Amino acid sequence: MKAAIVYGVNDLRIEEVSKPKIEKSCQVLLKVKAVGICGSDVHILEGENPFATFPRVMGHEIVGEIEAVGADVTTVQVGEHVVVEPITYCGKCYACRKGMPNVCEQLKVSGVHVDGGMREYMVIDEKQVHSIKKDIPWTTAVLTEPYTIAGNVTTRTNIKAGECVVIQGAGPIGITILRIAKVKGATVLVTDMVDEKLEFAKANGADAIVNPAKENLVEAVKNWTGGEMANVVIDAACTPKTFEICFDLVSVAGTIGVLGMNEKPSAIPQINFMKKQLTVVGSRLQAYQFVPVIRLLEAGSLTDNGLVTHKFKFEDIKSAFQLIHEHPEQVKKAVLLFD
Ligand code: MN
Repeated sequence: MKAAIVYGVNDLRIEEVSKPKIEKSCQVLLKVKAVGICGSDVHILEGENPFATFPRVMGHEIVGEIEAVGADVTTVQVGEHVVVEPITYCGKCYACRKGMPNVCEQLKVSGVHVDGGMREYMVIDEKQVHSIKKDIPWTTAVLTEPYTIAGNVTTRTNIKAGECVVIQGAGPIGITILRIAKVKGATVLVTDMVDEKLEFAKANGADAIVNPAKENLVEAVKNWTGGEMANVVIDAACTPKTFEICFDLVSVAGTIGVLGMNEKPSAIPQINFMKKQLTVVGSRLQAYQFVPVIRLLEAGSLTDNGLVTHKFKFEDIKSAFQLIHEHPEQVKKAVLLFD
């Protein structure tokens, strides 16, 4: 079978490797059908992900069909369509005990710390696969993982029906957060510096859009909320400045959700936390979001919403990364398809 292996910075090769075999009774053999390319994969290939080690098979947005199951597997059967949950955790540390396995001390992410889905077959634990109905197209099912990122931050910020939510950034993650915030019944304003991205947000249900390069964002949110400001602000733009302005955009008793991993500090006076009694929450990857997101996809409450802009045959993986590198503005989500 073929696997795409990263040997070092910008050194991606498709190689013939032996097909993996089930070695433990709790494992399944998966025929990979589609893998989404994430911004974080681009970072790994370009040597900008400190967690990744080489050689590595990338890919954490994985869907496929079960080809074989170990003797003790009970939850999935041969022929079922599944989505891979690309994390493993210890189950014993403080984070795991507190219901946050996504920040486990021994967290391992497929495609980052261990080999992922950019190969024709993979063997994985039964508990890391979730069934999805066969009538969901592979190119929609593959959006499950990006939607779980949105599921996690909207859970962490505890978005409720009727609340006013501001999402900074209308990239793919901003759009998935918008979709889930709408499913939860929120009213949503989306910001971005690029008008085309704002139009896409509007087409995906944004109740209001603001380009902060052209308009005073704080004033716009004040007008939009009748002076109350936003009950939840999620920063999916992740610059030191967008984090700082969250504190001006948020209402009293409000919540701020942080997704970024920018190492540069932001200047935030203590009074901004205290005076409004704010809750500021980080959100990393996801915990317990796969099943609820799959149910929303099966119900049609979430769809691909125009997010998948490019499809490539797996063999053309280099062209896919080249396109993303050269024309990032054209690509929302590129998906690799296998026969
Ligand atoms: Mn991703």
